[in-house]
Amino acid sequence: MKARAPFAAAAALSLLGAACGGSDGGGAALGRGPATTTTSSTVLVGQGAVVTRSGVVVPVISRAGNGWVVSTPCGRPAEITDGTPTPAAAVVLDPGHGGKDPGAVSPSGLQEEPVNLAVARYAKGALEAAGVSALLTRTGDYDMDLQPRADIARAVRAQAFVSIHHNADPDGPSLRPGTETYYQIGSTRSKRLSGLIYEEVVAALSRYPVAWVGDRDAGAKYRQGARGDYYAVLRLPGQIVSALAELAFITNPPEAELVARADVQQVEGEAVARGVLRYLRTEDPGSGFTEPYPRPSPPDRPPGSPPPPCTDPPL
Ligand SMILES: [Zn+2]
Repeated sequence: MKARAPFAAAAALSLLGAACGGSDGGGAALGRGPATTTTSSTVLVGQGAVVTRSGVVVPVISRAGNGWVVSTPCGRPAEITDGTPTPAAAVVLDPGHGGKDPGAVSPSGLQEEPVNLAVARYAKGALEAAGVSALLTRTGDYDMDLQPRADIARAVRAQAFVSIHHNADPDGPSLRPGTETYYQIGSTRSKRLSGLIYEEVVAALSRYPVAWVGDRDAGAKYRQGARGDYYAVLRLPGQIVSALAELAFITNPPEAELVARADVQQVEGEAVARGVLRYLRTEDPGSGFTEPYPRPSPPDRPPGSPPPPCTDPPL
């Protein structure tokens, strides 16, 4: 997740929240980069979301006749009349990437996108089993911009918003899982949420005897950008308490083999859910807090370059 290759192909995907590792550069990288690429939100906090007939989750901009004006996964206004209103949800889980943006890819070709989605689904199931309402931002393999992801969390007034990713570009071998979680600068709640997710995920993954990799400053940390949080997925939610979780390094072949397994995806999802539950129900402080070493914050897309295309799924 270090910044490199600021522009080029990586940048083309960055708007969509592309590529863990390798394209932080473009910024939106990792489904979490800087957000000059996105327009400001038209979604107000607490307006609610709708799950459309096709299962896509969309935040509400306003009521319209028998239906709603909503914001699509590409952030465009659209009018819909069908769907299940979801006025509130305690937790919103955000599976990173999707559509033209597969995220990081292992040497064997395993993409981050479906792994993130599977883990998020397990986390949602575990939260619901514990009596906590949860909503996914992305429910299939389609393009999704960063603003709509944050808008869903804002629309349902989530108490916790967690973006789920798998990492790339480690510093080197590690004796323990190289899990990283990021919190919102200046938010003690976000910091606690990130520390609890870190604690649970590392404990859960440590049972596997794997040749782990990681960054020298792996842990629960922040990343400073030019305008506050470097990662848009932490900046765009505003007052919504948010965390970004990089669960394991999918570009490390032994870890890719591990996270390709459904049982391990379930272990990861349940660990994320336990962290969120402890955030909601205890005063536990979390652990693993580290001071990040300085990383450059590359600019967003070069001036004048067109935004990458975003194609909405059928609603
Ligand atoms: Zn990612």
